[in-house]
Amino acid sequence: MTESAAFFIDFDGTLVDIAARPHLVHVEPQVLELLRGLTARLDGAVAILTGRPLATVDDFLSPLTLPAGAEHGAVRRDAEGAVHRDFEADAMTKVGEALQVLADEHGELELERKESSVALHYRQKPELGDMAREAVHRAIEGNRDLHVMDGKMVLEVKVEGLDKGLALEAFMAEEPFAGRVPVMIGDDVTDEYAFAAANKAGGISIKIGEGDTLAHYRTDRPGFMAWAKAFADAGS
Ligand SMILES: [Mg+2]
Repeated sequence: MTESAAFFIDFDGTLVDIAARPHLVHVEPQVLELLRGLTARLDGAVAILTGRPLATVDDFLSPLTLPAGAEHGAVRRDAEGAVHRDFEADAMTKVGEALQVLADEHGELELERKESSVALHYRQKPELGDMAREAVHRAIEGNRDLHVMDGKMVLEVKVEGLDKGLALEAFMAEEPFAGRVPVMIGDDVTDEYAFAAANKAGGISIKIGEGDTLAHYRTDRPGFMAWAKAFADAGS
């Protein structure tokens, strides 16, 4: 792999350890240093692909403002800084309101409302998972544009037809990503779309941690961090 790579990096579980509550993740200084190094080495062809809102990514990675496929690509900021949105917001607002009632009833459930999706986290009390799952499916009943992603201790309602794979492809059609070899790194089921897209483009896919995957390689978070740092440093 040479300077012609483009990096696509998931946030939670990949750049930071997963925390008991999503806002509690800690971004180590070496993560910012790594992203800075990669960005310099790859002429800006480094994008974050995450389920988090764009503003949250920016907060965590401040002072960096990177290209990002936030909300699984529904809110995508290109390398020029332009933000692209491609979804209907009304249906999602209604789902959010329905699940807010449930979250208010059960303090251990945490509802994360975004522009294009709603995530119900139950890692504080895993035994609420089945009940939460039922409620989420009830909330989207009859709406064909919405679907549920069953993640690690989280149920996420998303707009059909938006995923990290499409975000990766959109970046790959633009400068400075176009013509490079995509390298996708992630840890969760939502990253599988981007692994598939990277593989299809003749790229490299790296899964962090356990679980079935389409990725060609597997490592853990420290292993990825060390490899990526060596890659970034090799260019300086
Ligand atoms: Mg992740």
